[in-house]
Amino acid sequence: MIQITMPLNFLGTVYREIRQALVDMGEMFGLLEQPPDVKDAPDARVLSVTGGSISLRNVHFGYDAARPILQGIDLTVGPGQTVAVVGPSGSGKSTIGRLLFRFYDVQSGAVEIDGQDVRSVSQESLHAQIGVVPQDTVLFNDTIRYNIAYGRPDASHSEIEAAAKAAQIDDFIRALPDGYDTTVGERGLKLSGGEKQRVGIARTLLKNPPILLLDEATSALDSETEAEIQDALHTMSQGRSVITIAHRLSTIVGADRIVVLEAGRIVEEGTHEDLLSRNGRYASLWRRQQDEADAA
Ligand code: ADP
Ligand code: MG
Repeated sequence: MIQITMPLNFLGTVYREIRQALVDMGEMFGLLEQPPDVKDAPDARVLSVTGGSISLRNVHFGYDAARPILQGIDLTVGPGQTVAVVGPSGSGKSTIGRLLFRFYDVQSGAVEIDGQDVRSVSQESLHAQIGVVPQDTVLFNDTIRYNIAYGRPDASHSEIEAAAKAAQIDDFIRALPDGYDTTVGERGLKLSGGEKQRVGIARTLLKNPPILLLDEATSALDSETEAEIQDALHTMSQGRSVITIAHRLSTIVGADRIVVLEAGRIVEEGTHEDLLSRNGRYASLWRRQQDEADAA
C-alpha cells in the first residue's frame, strides 16, 4: 500500500506544481487545460508603449468558426483612461481581455496597442506591458515575498514592501509569524479572498505595467471587502490605461466610459450619467442592482 500511495501522492504534488506554472498566463482566463496555439510572427517586434492606447477595430471572433462570440466590436481606450465593460454572463467580456492578451487571434478586424497590431509584436513584450487582476488571484505554495515578486523576480525587498504598502497588505504581512517569508497557498497559510486580491494587486504594482486588465477583480468578495479593494485598484489605475470588467455596476460608476455588451455586440456606450439618462439597458441593470442592494 505504502509503495503505491507514496508515488501517487508525489505525482499529485508534481502535477499541481505544473498546473500552477501555467497559472500566470491562464489565471484570468480559466483556460488552464488549453495552451494557446498563437505564435510570434517571424519578424515580430518588441511592443513599444508610448501613451498606452488600446483599440479594437471591428473585431469578430469565435472560439470555433461556427459560433461567433464577438461580432464587430469597436472599442478604444485612450492613454490613462478607464473603460468598463459590463453585460450579462457569457456576453463576451472576458473574451475581449483574452484577445488583448493575444491568447487567441481575431477572425477579422484588429487589436492594437499604440497603433501596433498585437499580431505584429512578440508575446513576451505584449505580456510584459499588461497587468491582469483576475477574479481569484492564484497563489503559489511559496513565501508571500515570492508570490508578490512573481512578476519581477529581480525586485528588491524595498520594492516588494512598497508594492505591498500600496496594496494595503504590508501591515498584515508584518504581523504573520514569519513576515514576508511566511509560506502561503494551498499547503501554507490560507489567505482570505480579500487578502489574496491584495497580493495580486501588489504583484501587479511591482510589475508596473502601463496597461491593466481587471476581470471581475472584486466580484468574489463581500461588499465591504470589495469597497476596500476597490480603493487599492483605483489608486493602481491612476496613470494607466485600464479595461475593467465588472459584475457589480457600483464599482465602475467613475469610469471614463462604460460599454454594455450583449451577445458579443456593444449595445450602449457612455458615462454612468449618460447611460442612466438614456434609460436603456444600463439603466435597467443599474436599477435592478440597486433594488437587490436595498433588499440585502
Ligand atoms: P463573459 O466574460 O462575458 O461572461 P466570456 O467572454 O467568458 O463571457 O465567454 C463568451 C462566450 O464564449 C460564452 O458563451 C462562453 O461559453 C464561450 N467561451 C468562453 N471560452 C471558451 C472556450 N475556450 N471555448 C469555447 N467557448 C468558450
Ligand atoms: Mg468573464
